[in-house]
Amino acid sequence: MKQSPEHIYALAFGAHPDDVELACGATLLKIIAEGRSVAVCDLTRGEMGTLGTPETRRAEAEKATQLMGYQCRTSLDLGDSKLFHTEENIAEIIKVIRHFKPSVVFANSPDERHPDHVKASKLVTDACYYSGLQQLATTMNGQVQLPHRPKHLLYYIQFKHLEPDLIVDISQTFEASRKGVLAFGSQFYQEGRTEEAKTLIQRREFLTGLEARARYFGEQIGTLYGEGYKLPAPLAIRSFTSVF
Ligand SMILES: [Zn+2]
Repeated sequence: MKQSPEHIYALAFGAHPDDVELACGATLLKIIAEGRSVAVCDLTRGEMGTLGTPETRRAEAEKATQLMGYQCRTSLDLGDSKLFHTEENIAEIIKVIRHFKPSVVFANSPDERHPDHVKASKLVTDACYYSGLQQLATTMNGQVQLPHRPKHLLYYIQFKHLEPDLIVDISQTFEASRKGVLAFGSQFYQEGRTEEAKTLIQRREFLTGLEARARYFGEQIGTLYGEGYKLPAPLAIRSFTSVF
């Protein structure tokens, strides 16, 4: 990991490069607009994808990082279509959490179409908990890491429709977040492309579907666009009047 920030406010994990941009990109832009720092960690290089090589996808992820304004993006290379629930994989994720010390973590949802998303969700959930254990030792670059447990974990809604526990108003950042999605040119429809789509998500209509979902979630809270999230536990309201 090149940069060593003291504290990142929000850390977003994705099973594959582009998961984060597809499902919670506009929220991350909102966080950045509110003056907080964001980092992204892709758990795999997406090497089993039908389209795009790992090299192409790395370049696309770097382009997305520039466009979105993340402070840092890292890839763990845990193995596309592998991502098994092993002690080693959990330890690698704990190292990233302890490195960035986030208050908020975003992860794939436990209920999803792609098995890697489900596995990633479980791995990140467990790593968030274990990361706070004093007796669980990890090192990075030869340095012993301190325990750190993120305060909040949010599951983003990606392919499968889930009833959200909360919806973030992304009306101001939705348009900008599309650039982050389109940075992954090997995966999605690009203007002018004439050949037939090879995957479900390469269809032009997929991008329309993404917008429709954001519009639907927005409608649920009386705004133009929204991004929905599942929570692993009830949300504690510390200050009643700051929410209601
Ligand atoms: Zn994915």
